[in-house]
Amino acid sequence: MRIVLLGGGGFIGSHLAEWLLARGTHDVIATDINHDKLRHLLDHGRFTYFDSDIHTDVQLTRQLVESADVVVNLVAVATPKTYTLNPLHVFELDFLDNLRVAQMCAEMNRRLVQFSTCEIYGPTWLSLVPPELATPEFIARADITQSEDSTAMITGPINETRWIYATSKHLLERVIHALGMQQGLDYSIIRPFNFVGPRFDFLPSDKDDTSPRMFAQFMDALLRGTRISLVDGGAAQRCYTYIDDAVECIGRILEDRTGSTSREAFNIGNPGNEASVVEFADMMIDIYKAQYWDGVQPLPEVVSVPGKEFFGPGYADCDRRIPDITKARELLGWAPEWDLRSLISSTMDSFVSEYRSRAAERPAPVALVAE
Ligand code: UDP
Repeated sequence: MRIVLLGGGGFIGSHLAEWLLARGTHDVIATDINHDKLRHLLDHGRFTYFDSDIHTDVQLTRQLVESADVVVNLVAVATPKTYTLNPLHVFELDFLDNLRVAQMCAEMNRRLVQFSTCEIYGPTWLSLVPPELATPEFIARADITQSEDSTAMITGPINETRWIYATSKHLLERVIHALGMQQGLDYSIIRPFNFVGPRFDFLPSDKDDTSPRMFAQFMDALLRGTRISLVDGGAAQRCYTYIDDAVECIGRILEDRTGSTSREAFNIGNPGNEASVVEFADMMIDIYKAQYWDGVQPLPEVVSVPGKEFFGPGYADCDRRIPDITKARELLGWAPEWDLRSLISSTMDSFVSEYRSRAAERPAPVALVAE
């Protein structure tokens, strides 16, 4: 197949491109505004890369869509800091520009695999239950698993700008569903649940950019002996999924020729890997101490910080996200294999190799030096 990966230069796209090229039969065309994560693939005979932005390069995007057997749209801002600080940009890219691609696919009769997010489910219904009713017995009996075709979606008030991402993706999914219903668009939607692995975001201090997500923030603190910030005490829980598991599932959706994945949304996640942020941080520190610490450099101080201070006043959090993966199991015979400790270890290994020497050269933040 000729597979076009729009936004293929990011963490997920770079792994997906590798997986597809390893199959030996696909031609893979990737576009992005940065190709750092694709350098190792640029000379591959079946791989083509275009430095291109779907926001401005509409003509090239149209030509690539037309030339494709399958279009995979990975273009998105997907970092909570941006949702609170620049919500308009999130809406324009994650909804308006993505919508144009979906409309092109419908018009040209091309199959679309659209990346969405587990965040469209929002916080769980349990988080809305008044504390006096949420007894331990009630909580233990509550089913908060998130299922593609039956779970309701929850967001917060408008001043919580964090939800611009979830609601942009939510509306995009609804419009794509309608394009399928009314114009015959052949699509699959993918909802990733906290994928982690090599090439995840980047080390914040390496680019003087604090937008990366949790794993990268904690790695920065470990490699530089600075601070691990637990937002609101680190009580939020997530289910973490190793990128190799995720890409195996995405690849099977792309290669599906039975039509069974058409006009379906898929949760891709590992319900067995749930951990709170504080548990995740503890595990990272533990593994770092055992495998990489020289016994000399200071270990990070772990502090709790208010979310609205850390991410901006529009921040709100999802309490838990547990995927129901029955659909992927039944239609694709897929199941995730990587446990939490192994996926942290493997990702940490890649961060240490890529960043340790550069991170050591970066000065510690002034506040920490003064202490
Ligand atoms: N978080 C944290 N410290 C950080 C970065 C994130 O405690 O330095 C928390 C964040 O508030 C959320 C969880 O970690 O509860 C996961 O955040 P991430 O940025 O990875 O993205 P999300 O899963 O919310 O999309």
